[in-house]
Order: sequence, then C-alpha cells, then structure tokens
Amino acid sequence: MEQQKIALVTGANKGIGYAIAHGLGQEGFRVAVGARDDARRDAAVQKLRADGVDAFGVALDVTSDESVAAAARAVASEAGRLDVLVNNAGISGSLADGAQDPTTLDLDVVRTVLDTNAFGAVRVTNAMLPLLEGADSPRIVNMSSDMGSLELHTGPLLAAYAASKTMLNALTVHYARRLADTNVIVNSACPGYVATDFTGHDGPRTPDQGAVVAIRLATLPDDGPRGGFFNEAGPLPW
Ligand code: NAP
Repeated sequence: MEQQKIALVTGANKGIGYAIAHGLGQEGFRVAVGARDDARRDAAVQKLRADGVDAFGVALDVTSDESVAAAARAVASEAGRLDVLVNNAGISGSLADGAQDPTTLDLDVVRTVLDTNAFGAVRVTNAMLPLLEGADSPRIVNMSSDMGSLELHTGPLLAAYAASKTMLNALTVHYARRLADTNVIVNSACPGYVATDFTGHDGPRTPDQGAVVAIRLATLPDDGPRGGFFNEAGPLPW
C-alpha cells in the first residue's frame, strides 16, 4: 500500500491556506496546519478533522528562525518526512499614510512585508528541505500574486507587497535551478482575487477556488513543470 503523503501549509488557519489544507486533506494527504496562534491553529485543526481531514497542528511563525526550526522538528517527529510544502503565509502590510505609494514608501513596511512574504518562505523552505528530500516526489508551492508580475502591472499600487511577491517569484526560479537535478519541484502560484480577510472579503473568488492552483502544483506528476508561475488557467508572465 502506498504511504500516506504529508503536506505542510503555512498560514493554514484561515483563508486560502485553510482551503489548501482542506483540499489536500480531501486528496488523502495528512496535513500539518502551520499557524502562529495556538487558538486559531487548534480551531482550524478541529474544523478540518470534523470534515474528515487527517490534520495536526504545527506552531509556526514564519518570521522567527526559532519557530521555524521547532516546526521542522515537530514535523520530523510527527511524520518523519514531508512530501509537500506550501509557503502560503502572507501579509499585505500597512497602507496608512502612503506607506506603499512608491513616492512615500515606508521602508519599515517594506522590511516587515519582505520578512513574512519572501524571507519567511526561505526560512521555512530551507528548514524543511531535509524532510522533503526524504520523499519520493517532493513539491514546493510558493503562494505568489499576479501583483508581483513585472509584466502585468496589475492591482492597486502596493510597492511593498507587490515587490515582495516579485522577490518570491525570483526565489522560486532560483530554488528550481538549484534543485533542477533533484526530484524536488518548485513553482509559484497565483490564486486570483479571493474573498478573505486579506482583501476585506472583496474578491470575486472563493478560498476554495483560490486553492485550486496550489493543490494542482502540490500534486504535479514527476515530469511536471519546474520553476514556473501559474494561475488556475495556466502559465502567467513573470
Ligand atoms: P489571509 O486570510 O489574511 O490569511 C493569511 C494567513 O497567513 C493567515 O493564516 C495568517 O495567520 C498567516 N500569516 C501571516 N503572517 C504569518 C506569520 N508571520 N507566520 C505564520 N503565518 C502567518 O490571506 P489569504 O487571502 O488567505 O492569503 C494567503 C496567501 O495568498 C498570501 O500569501 C497572499 O499574499 C496570497 N494572495 C492572496 C490573494 C487574495 O486575493 N486573497 C491574491 C493573491 C495572493 P494569522 O491568522 O495568525 O494572521
């Protein structure tokens, strides 16, 4: 019998991350719910279990080296390896007083947003790689945004947030190049404009719809694309 696959989703307590955890659980994965707040994490794990998902919680603040190292130890002791990592945790950063207008850009906001959206993915990926390398078909999905595309020029002017996703896309390319000779497949995903707390529930898409592309990239066949940027409809321009 095939071994049950293990997936870690960061920022899985709500929004698109929760929907990814739910969707992967429905595909038969055992899901590690990465979340920084104990109560929100426990509530999400209970809700997933009530829906038939084999879920367990992992305390994880992607901005903390200590928390990320402890999370890797927790996944190792609970599951022994990792098949899928979805770097989903993300923040928009403050928009107050022109903080993300490029002409009045607040560099502290830039640092804060990069620390979660880009450096957070690096921290978690590098801590989890030894566990991923123990899997037969490891996949890493970086939850990006078309706002990070240098070609599309889309969405509101959010110079910290959009640039953080551009950097995340660059990291996807570099990880894919570095891991080209391995079985670890790394891609970036764009969920579309999704109604979550992040968007003030303004987007036209549901979290389940936003999760589709990440679930697809998390379950790519061994000859699937590497180092790409995709939404549900297909490849996106960088
Ligand atoms: P959300 O509902 O605000 O959820 C964000 C998740 O990230 C929450 O679970 C949050 O945890 C977690 N998080 C934030 N900082 C964290 C940290 N330091 N450590 C661990 N977890 C942290 O947002 P969403 O709409 O689902 O967005 C998920 C991802 O999709 C983000 O990367 C976002 O940039 C991307 N995205 C969203 C849209 C959209 O339209 N919604 C479009 C394009 C891309 P807490 O509950 O503890 O805050």
